Amino acid sequence: MASAFPILGENTASLLGPVPRISSLLIKPASAVCNLDCAYCFYLDREADPYKALPARRMTEETLERLVDSYLFYSYPNSVFAFQGGEPTLAGAAFFEKLCELQKQYGRDGQNVSNALQTNGILLDDRWCRLFHEYNWLIGLSVDGPEEMHDRYRFNKQGRGTWQKVMQGMETLKKNKVEFNVLCVLSQANVENPKEVYKFFRSLGIDYIQYIPLAEFDHQGQPLPFTIAPEQYGRFLCETFDLWWPDRRRVRIRFFDNIAEALAGQKPGNCTMHETCDSYVVVEYNGDVYPCDFFVEKSWKLGNIQTQSWAEIARRQTRYTFAAKKTLAHPECQVCEYQSICHGGCPKLRHGRHGQFEDLDYFCQAYKMIYAKSVGPLKKEVAKILGAPVPAAAQALSPY
Ligand code: SF4
Ligand code: SF4
Repeated sequence: MASAFPILGENTASLLGPVPRISSLLIKPASAVCNLDCAYCFYLDREADPYKALPARRMTEETLERLVDSYLFYSYPNSVFAFQGGEPTLAGAAFFEKLCELQKQYGRDGQNVSNALQTNGILLDDRWCRLFHEYNWLIGLSVDGPEEMHDRYRFNKQGRGTWQKVMQGMETLKKNKVEFNVLCVLSQANVENPKEVYKFFRSLGIDYIQYIPLAEFDHQGQPLPFTIAPEQYGRFLCETFDLWWPDRRRVRIRFFDNIAEALAGQKPGNCTMHETCDSYVVVEYNGDVYPCDFFVEKSWKLGNIQTQSWAEIARRQTRYTFAAKKTLAHPECQVCEYQSICHGGCPKLRHGRHGQFEDLDYFCQAYKMIYAKSVGPLKKEVAKILGAPVPAAAQALSPY
């Protein structure tokens, strides 16, 4: 399908109509720098990383203040700040305490400000957790399952496993009553054990889990050893769906939540199920802005918060060009019964193997497996919750 956005000069895209809002920020206060050395991490030593040769990569207080002031103004009344890395806690607890002070200073009456942070949990202590609790942060903790699965790839700089340390971090979160969920990367270490992984998280009282499938390739487009096959991912999701179904009113699995949201006619929380890639932007440590975490590359830079307003950044032609990559429908997507939920998957997973945005999403087979299994029952469940049939667009979807 042709691009929905004609090619125009920078800053002229706004002539086309309303500019899609930047609805949240993914901020990297320590850039890609991390205190761990996980074998599968795509962010460490990325060739395309524009900052990898730079030694000191920490967001300064001036950049932080400019970020908070300008974004609170732009995003009123709902402002979403999410912190990620690398490892964002490397910026230090004082950095985040300052952030909360600045949010109080620049926020306006009636403004909703939410903060989230994704962490490997190594540096968490009572000081961090008191702050998270006081300001109601949502924390995502990276855990890949029981010890032997987690420690297969998640190493520290000395090459040793990190599970014990992460469990201490989890205890500190629990002790301080911090709201957290678990982010579990699916690799060859755990993808064949959905039951063990699910039971492990449930035994810890975890009731919100995000599974992230690993897909990294070599220069020839061959999957790296820890990458999972689409069929493995599909089986994992289907078996997890069966395990989760009796718990569905008290446990949340992000992918299943997102399918239910789409069936209810809402915009799913996960960008991979949106029509275009323009819901959030990434802010690097020095204020540079990019359209997606997977495309922090010179050619996709949208601007810098020191010299441009959010309104200007939002209407950069590069943002429109990137957003439209998702609309390049593969022939298989054009005839797919799940297109209106899936929207062709994630451009990273289309582009990742051979550098072509036109390719089919690497995990397409997995999506078809889980949609075939879950759409029918979820549709009934959503109708029960809504007290009405699911919206018409979703009616056409189910094979049931
Ligand atoms: S490329 Fe994938 S991860 Fe990035 S914004 Fe698009 S759907 Fe989201
Ligand atoms: S399930 Fe596969 S074919 Fe269908 S829309 Fe998604 S990526 Fe395309």
